[in-house]
Amino acid sequence: PYDVLVVGGGPAGASAAIYAARKGIRTGVVAERFGGQVNDTLGIENFISVKYTEGPKLAASLEEHTKEYGVDIMKGQRAKRLEKKELVEIELENGAVLKSKTVIISTGARWRNLGVPGEAEFKNKGVAYCPHCDGPLFAGKHVAVVGGGNSGIEAAIDLAGIAEHVTVLEFMPELKADSVLQDRLNSLPNTTVLKNAQVKEITGDTKVNGVTYIERATGEEKHIELQGVFVQIGLVPNTDWLDDTVERTRMGEIVVDSHGMTNVPGVFAAGDCTHTPYKQIIISMGSGATAALGAFDYMIRNQ
Ligand code: FAD
Repeated sequence: PYDVLVVGGGPAGASAAIYAARKGIRTGVVAERFGGQVNDTLGIENFISVKYTEGPKLAASLEEHTKEYGVDIMKGQRAKRLEKKELVEIELENGAVLKSKTVIISTGARWRNLGVPGEAEFKNKGVAYCPHCDGPLFAGKHVAVVGGGNSGIEAAIDLAGIAEHVTVLEFMPELKADSVLQDRLNSLPNTTVLKNAQVKEITGDTKVNGVTYIERATGEEKHIELQGVFVQIGLVPNTDWLDDTVERTRMGEIVVDSHGMTNVPGVFAAGDCTHTPYKQIIISMGSGATAALGAFDYMIRNQ
């Protein structure tokens, strides 16, 4: 069996694997796609000490660094079941069962897509999902935020300090965000909120030049010219495969303690799949390191 088996090979998983392997213990990583969401990122400017890098380049470095330590890397494999017996068992979709003293779940998350024409086409060309990552690219421009929940309104407040104007589009007749956030947004002069508005299309040529929406009360179609669209309709953790084996929040995020451990002894989690706030590369890496050290600590106390 492994000492530490990491499920997921994004920034959290790579960091956990490196921290574990550096303790000289048997470490494995199962990953559907090594690098995770980083593969889909164009420019990265907030990975501290690296002024600028690109997703595929960082993903390749993550893998190269992990390989330095003789970690057993199983790529192109999906975990489908976890079971805690004397050891923790991870069953893969190909039927194989891996056993380990400890497991670190780092299966990440994905942004929920709007699914309208133009969204996929203009991804990284004006369509964005992360204000902390891409906000500065829209300095002095007009942007839309789609979604009036807490993350949408937080994004709008954040972007209002950078962009020339921010228009929020919410499908429902009311915003779902906390009233303190709504009040803060309403106090900003360069923001507009459109409720009961259904986004129909993101338009553009080589990059985004506008958004078309339907005013649901009247059925009327309207168009706004702008340069960016931030989609903020939810981040979905890749945790369905766990069913009820570990405690998750209503949103499906895995609940962890300060050492990265779940409610199941010996099962840890890190990165975007957990309930910890702020989903970022540097934060995922930090929590991967925490979970690996937590797992090591657990092992030396339980052998
Ligand atoms: P992920 O990166 O999601 O990795 C999850 C891993 O688990 C992958 O290897 C995946 O294949 C694997 N996996 C999933 N399910 C299974 C399964 N059942 N079995 C086996 N393996 C599985 N953050 C920044 O800090 N700066 C940025 O500029 C930035 N830009 C971004 C741009 C875009 C377009 C996106 C989508 C995200 C961006 N982020 C950015 C966020 C950042 O990418 C994430 O916070 C980070 O990748 C999370 O790391 P993670 O390891 O927790 O999860």
